[in-house]
Amino acid sequence: MGQKAIDVLIIGAGPTGLTLACELARSGLSFRIIEKSAASQAGSRGKGIQPRSLEVFDNLGMIDTVLSHGQMGMPICSVDAAGKEAWSGLEGGEPRPDIPYPSTLVIPQWRIEEALRNHLLSHGGEVEFGVELVSFDQSLDSVDTEVVTGDGESETIRSRWLVGCDGGHSIVRKHAGFEFLGETIDDIRMIVADVRAEGVERSCWRMWRHEEGFAALCPLPSTDQFQYQASIVPSQDGELSIDNMQAILETRTRRTDIRLKDVGWRSLWRANVRMVDRYRSGRVLLAGDAAHIHSPAGGQGMNTGIQDAHNLGWKLVSVIRGASILLLNTYEEERLPVAAGVLSLSNDLLRQAIKDRGIAVKRDERTNQLSVGYRGSSLSREEGAQRALLRAGDRAPDASGLRTTSGERRLFELLRGEHFTLLCFGVHQEIDELVLKHNWLRLRAVNVVAELAMPEDVVDTAGSLHAAYAPDATPFYVIRPDGYIGLIADRISAVDTWFEAAFQSKSR
Ligand SMILES: Cc1cc2nc3c(=O)[nH]c(=O)nc-3n(C[C@H](O)[C@H](O)[C@H](O)COP(=O)(O)OP(=O)(O)OC[C@H]3O[C@@H](n4cnc5c(N)ncnc54)[C@H](O)[C@@H]3O)c2cc1C
Repeated sequence: MGQKAIDVLIIGAGPTGLTLACELARSGLSFRIIEKSAASQAGSRGKGIQPRSLEVFDNLGMIDTVLSHGQMGMPICSVDAAGKEAWSGLEGGEPRPDIPYPSTLVIPQWRIEEALRNHLLSHGGEVEFGVELVSFDQSLDSVDTEVVTGDGESETIRSRWLVGCDGGHSIVRKHAGFEFLGETIDDIRMIVADVRAEGVERSCWRMWRHEEGFAALCPLPSTDQFQYQASIVPSQDGELSIDNMQAILETRTRRTDIRLKDVGWRSLWRANVRMVDRYRSGRVLLAGDAAHIHSPAGGQGMNTGIQDAHNLGWKLVSVIRGASILLLNTYEEERLPVAAGVLSLSNDLLRQAIKDRGIAVKRDERTNQLSVGYRGSSLSREEGAQRALLRAGDRAPDASGLRTTSGERRLFELLRGEHFTLLCFGVHQEIDELVLKHNWLRLRAVNVVAELAMPEDVVDTAGSLHAAYAPDATPFYVIRPDGYIGLIADRISAVDTWFEAAFQSKSR
């Protein structure tokens, strides 16, 4: 065919595909992102962004837009069958130097997608709407994908990599022959819809428990809508009409003063709990719902997809720049256990919700995803005596009050971007040479010193870097582009060895 291959073709412009596109765009790779729908999706669907995903958006440089459209720490009022109110909330505590975003952000999913699309545009990328993948063939060094547009035109796109971010019904997954193991439980259903409503305040997320099941109205920040949710028992009518939704609401709330107005996006959700047993087949990879689906209990699905993309992005970029293809095996190695853990958590929460006839809204270590890490990964190494609390594979904590030659910064600001960071405590002569050697991977040094001399120097004025990283025994940390610690070492030679082992680069 003689066609020049683009680096990556992304199928699907949901939160997973868009996050991956933003990762590739900032690295300047050639890619296309196609979406079969003619326009962007309207629904609120996943409306909880977990603290770890907020850190991903911080790293991408779009956190302010996301925060401006959502609400942190929304209060929750749960009303039991006797009309008694119990209050809780999505508040995760005060921001700390090491955890700047401790709470879940409530925000409609379409706002997240909008923010990602705008961010993509600012990097020169754009979603191709109305373009659908129909089939593909892969060879040893490329994938030929046949797509059709809304007006029936077809095109073959050659890419070095194909990433299926095409959701639970993924064609990429089916066509490449991945197993999707698990079960569909038809008896567990829920109406979810975006509605306008009168007679209910917008100051909290309200849930009503009833012997029949639950109903809930959650105000959607930056809109005048609520997300309506109601469980549907096996014998019940799951019709998605406003009359049916109003009738269910009146039964469950025992109130007639709340009036649903127009209904926008609506869906009858069925419990479907499945995941793949591998994430890559040759040059074809899966991410997000294409690889794992589960109940919305605990608000994990969209977040897990976003973090899949954040894990995969830099690895694809590194391989395209010349690292060994083996690096991509660590994507499955690291993310498959995370998906399995999320499935088990959301199953537990779903069972609890059915038992309580309510919604399981959790905000703890298991749901905020800050403790997701890769300690067992082949990329995580420790060299020398370890006295630090942190271990290789852990999320790199933030630190505030860092004096730099360009003003005061947080560590996360210095990590923002596609680069690896070598965090060094003290002055070390060999660093410049090392940074130059691994410059093709965009390695940057951050030197923690007592007095500023060079642009890469920082002074830990508040002591928060020392508190989080406890560098007494281990002055060197390699922080990966996705914000996880790859290496903790007591000598600089270990840094060079880590890069050589992790990337086994071909000649460039
Ligand atoms: C009712 C409900 C409530 C939820 N609540 C939460 C929550 O609170 N928190 C949370 O984190 N998650 C929640 N989720 C889950 C969340 O919505 C999904 O996990 C998320 O949308 C997955 O993103 P994705 O990008 O992987 O897939 P999707 O959002 O499904 O995007 C896939 C895209 O691929 C496109 N596509 C499919 N096939 C093709 C093709 N052949 N060619 C081109 N394009 C194609 C589709 O049109 C779609 O736009 C909820 C989901 C539902 C349904």
